[in-house]
Amino acid sequence: MKITNCVVLAVFCVGVSAYAADEFIVLKAARMFDGKSNSLVQDGVIVVKDDKIVDAGSNLQIPSGARVVDLGNATLCPGFMDAHTHLTEDFSGNYNERRLRELDLNVSEQAIQATEYARVTVEAGFTTVRDLGSRFVGSHEFVDAALRNSINKRVIVGPRMLVATKGIGATGGHFDPTNGFRDFLFGHEPDYTDGIANGPDEIRKAVRFEVKNGADVIKAAVSGGVLSLTDEVDTPQLTPAEMAALVDESHRLRKKVAVHCHGDSVAREAIDAGVDSIEHGSFMKPDTLTMMKKKGVFLTPTLMASEWIMGKIGNYPPALQAKAKAATAARSDMFRNAVKMGVKISFGTDAAVFPHGQNAKEFKLMVDLGMTPIDALKSATANDAELLGIAQNVGTLEKGKLADVIAVPGDPTTDITVTERVSFVMKEGRIIRQGPSGAEKAEKTASPDVSALAD
Ligand SMILES: [Zn+2]
Repeated sequence: MKITNCVVLAVFCVGVSAYAADEFIVLKAARMFDGKSNSLVQDGVIVVKDDKIVDAGSNLQIPSGARVVDLGNATLCPGFMDAHTHLTEDFSGNYNERRLRELDLNVSEQAIQATEYARVTVEAGFTTVRDLGSRFVGSHEFVDAALRNSINKRVIVGPRMLVATKGIGATGGHFDPTNGFRDFLFGHEPDYTDGIANGPDEIRKAVRFEVKNGADVIKAAVSGGVLSLTDEVDTPQLTPAEMAALVDESHRLRKKVAVHCHGDSVAREAIDAGVDSIEHGSFMKPDTLTMMKKKGVFLTPTLMASEWIMGKIGNYPPALQAKAKAATAARSDMFRNAVKMGVKISFGTDAAVFPHGQNAKEFKLMVDLGMTPIDALKSATANDAELLGIAQNVGTLEKGKLADVIAVPGDPTTDITVTERVSFVMKEGRIIRQGPSGAEKAEKTASPDVSALAD
């Protein structure tokens, strides 16, 4: 079995290198993007000791005895971040088959699969993700928190994760895990322990419950969504009073609030309530974008999600196809307007709607809709670090920051698609990838066997 070979070989091919604690590692490349400047630096050098950047700049002196990693004609960048993933899930195949599979899949098996999604994500250069929702019909497990903890303990390889646990939404809304199934199929109506809450007090209870169980960020669905069967994509699902309670309780507990929101009127209510980011935002009008700009609210556009769905539209039931078409038709103008108006844009893809590890394809979509390559790169580095509240540690290549460093071949300001071919990944001073990824190596090694069989 080719797939089995890939998995087995990947385990052996991708190791995490660790070096003596007192050793300097020096990364060199033809260029460097520091995460905040408007141009690239030539002859980039980054000096790393333990898990931190000691120095970063052009043509720096190399400490004696340092281990030098010369990446040649590449561009060093801060580790990319994705502010909207679902690393414990995979919605990328046929919609109805997936729903059936979810009923069959043991949550432990789901967790094991998630370790693979985490590995391919970090190998693609994404050293940090904000993971916005993890839910399994009929299960109360917190798989995203477990995945995050296992990565932090270095039990498995993956990106730094800020997790939202189950997300919060209304009965019958986009996040209701029984949405579209017959009544009481699962024996009870979902409640706050499933992230389903109605009324300000219950919303506060749901926030407290999720924080108690490990949420780093609070996610809520304030409007309908594309991949849910019984809600309209742009209708409001939380009231202004519920949103006020959501934001107040989250901010009291020092957690930021990300809201899934396609509709325009409900986006205004969410911005008024004080949310930190609007996810998707497909139907937002220029006046709404002006409100966002004034209040410094981030837009996380997730262009890849609609791109993938439109490319595989036959995989979805007719009701979802209509919603996807409407949202996609609106989102391009919305995004162009947001760029023109200078709304803060965070890089986020909705990975899981498409296969994990393809996150960087978002860059080209952003550039094609009017963003400069350097601003697209900033969205995935300094901007995301600001939105996630971790800018003091990551997001730029500066002295004292954690050594999350990646390299892309060539110059991303002349060809943004080089971000899709990351050739080197370091996370917190440890080299996770140099050259082909584990999966690519396994594929290469497996190929001769396959042709031998064919012969
Ligand atoms: Zn999402």
